[in-house]
Amino acid sequence: MRTPLALLAALLLAVPLTGHAQDGRATLEAAARALGADALKSLEFSGNGVHFALGQSAAPGQPWPRFNLKSFTRSVNYETASLRDEIVRTQAENPPRGGGQQPVRGEQRQSFHLSGDHAWNVMGTAAIPAPITLAERQMQLWTTPHGVVKAALANNATVQGNMIAFAVPGRLRVRAALTPQGLVERVEAVIHNAVLGDTPVEITYADYKDVGGVRFPARIRQAAGGFPTLDLTVTDVKPNVAVDITAPDDVRQAGAPYARVATQMVADGVWYLTGGSHHSVVIEMKDHLVVVEGPLNDERALAVIAEARTLAPGKPIRYVVASHHHFDHSGGLRAFAGEGVTVITHESSRAFFERSLAAPATVRPDHAAKAGRTPVVEGARDKRVLTDGTRTIELHHIAGNAHADGLLMVYLPKEKLLSEADVFTPPPAGTAPPPPSSFTVNFADNLKRLGLSVDRLLPLHGRIVPIADLYTAVGHGH
Ligand SMILES: [Zn+2]
Repeated sequence: MRTPLALLAALLLAVPLTGHAQDGRATLEAAARALGADALKSLEFSGNGVHFALGQSAAPGQPWPRFNLKSFTRSVNYETASLRDEIVRTQAENPPRGGGQQPVRGEQRQSFHLSGDHAWNVMGTAAIPAPITLAERQMQLWTTPHGVVKAALANNATVQGNMIAFAVPGRLRVRAALTPQGLVERVEAVIHNAVLGDTPVEITYADYKDVGGVRFPARIRQAAGGFPTLDLTVTDVKPNVAVDITAPDDVRQAGAPYARVATQMVADGVWYLTGGSHHSVVIEMKDHLVVVEGPLNDERALAVIAEARTLAPGKPIRYVVASHHHFDHSGGLRAFAGEGVTVITHESSRAFFERSLAAPATVRPDHAAKAGRTPVVEGARDKRVLTDGTRTIELHHIAGNAHADGLLMVYLPKEKLLSEADVFTPPPAGTAPPPPSSFTVNFADNLKRLGLSVDRLLPLHGRIVPIADLYTAVGHGH
């Protein structure tokens, strides 16, 4: 409700705070002194606790799935704007429910890196570009207690009472609350997310300890998109240790990795689009195209859309089918909606996508925000058929699958092709599949229940395989 008093307050806040600028700077400098930020060039802290996989809930509106953090070490270098997380984690959800690489078997090591505008992951000896994580990692760097104050001083922060506010254009907006002693106790950031648009992040810092003149919290809690993402107990802090993180050449030269599309025709008018981590399928109908999956982000989706248009010139893309609501699989849907393509999802995710596809993206305006169209989302329940009288596409619910409640698979009965996400990812050729997850067993059970006659799988991760590979993976008893 907009009362006259609220209006007056809004007007007062809009007045430039020139008279207070000196006070603001003094507040920030006092905070820097209290935290020991001035002389702090780098920092390493370690601990344990739990973290949660953003965007990987079992159903929209449910919490992000939890993982045990056996160890977590974050190294930051404020002078080179770089960060490294070394993580050892284990499965926490029992039975596994939701995504985020569940089920984790034994201890899983993860190694996440940021240097300037480069983000990458290290797996074994390989550095894998991960620009999709850039906004989140830069936010992590500049929302550490010392990072907030350094960034606030560098970005002309406004200060009102104990609240600091600043923005890094195109990257993030930050508001932070200081304790009377000048310590950062709460941070509210907004970053861009390919699915949610403007995405709120909340961080609390508690139980500050002194380590050689540097103050650092012993408890760090984070939430993003409305649910917890981290609860860390810090056990070790090392100020000003050497932190030397530079992007390898192949990361620097990666360019636009998500825009690389490799196309293979698998049947007349059916194409399998790969080239990265998440695939799509393009299906030609009499007077339009249907695309299966709009994964990752704008860059990927716009490349897939462009490729689809060259495969069947003049035919508009009418539908994009979303396998499920996990963010890595649905991050391109905003771009499809921006192009006027109708999104088909399982009914249980329809309301979520209606909201998220229309959500504002003011931190970094994306294709959907620039296009300004009203998204159109349609649902599918147990089964939905798309047909032009010649070709038939069946969408089936993968019922009872704990990876996600609303998983859809796409079946072409005439071609005996079936596309699915995350319930069976074929291993590289010549390697044995891992023990089947409960998700894979459920998928095979669904195929049997529905009596679908399948020759080949077009998985949205991995590679095309004969259906026999699935039955080998789950054991011949199926
Ligand atoms: Zn998933």
